[in-house]
Amino acid sequence: MDELCFPLLALSRLRMGTDGKGVTTLVAGAGCPLSCRYCINRRLLKEAPQKSVTAEELLESVRIDDLYFRATGGGVTFGGGESLLHAEFICRFRDMCPPEWRIAAETSLAVPREHLLAAISGVDEFIVDCKDMDPDIYRRYTGGDVRLMKENLEFLLASCGAERLLVRVPYIPDFNTAEDQERSAEALRKMGIMRLELFEYVVRPE
Ligand code: SF4
Repeated sequence: MDELCFPLLALSRLRMGTDGKGVTTLVAGAGCPLSCRYCINRRLLKEAPQKSVTAEELLESVRIDDLYFRATGGGVTFGGGESLLHAEFICRFRDMCPPEWRIAAETSLAVPREHLLAAISGVDEFIVDCKDMDPDIYRRYTGGDVRLMKENLEFLLASCGAERLLVRVPYIPDFNTAEDQERSAEALRKMGIMRLELFEYVVRPE
């Protein structure tokens, strides 16, 4: 088997209530197609990853919390950066880790469709940060095109069902308003998204 590696930026253990159900370990990887103005990882994303790990090596690093994962229904959450750039790696990790662990992926869905196709079999829950559903706000904030995110969201909804999707809708100071945030939430409800979380970005001075 070839050496499929993950560009590890950081690993954070024993998290609760931030990355999906139960106790989770957040595994952050390098690379992202967007350029969000308040991205807390912007500096890190531009640098070379601290290290590259195989699925076996990552499993060894996170196995220490096996009992917590099993007891709480938690597991490993891949973040970033854009986790779905590493969909193939995530699926290999899923195949190797205990089946009771829950595997989640935090994503903007600003990725080509093939990454979604690769991720579906290995990811139990997609945690989507949609930014904003308005094309102009989305472009101003991320530099990207909202159509890619919307089309990918529709595809995931049709392929996996609403239960496996949590969509987070941010209030982004200076980029959208509470009304814009609610408009985005309403558009998502109309699409059939059932699990929504509205929250506010905390903006740190650069
Ligand atoms: S999608 Fe996330 S990691 Fe990528 S630039 Fe935006 S905030 Fe940063």
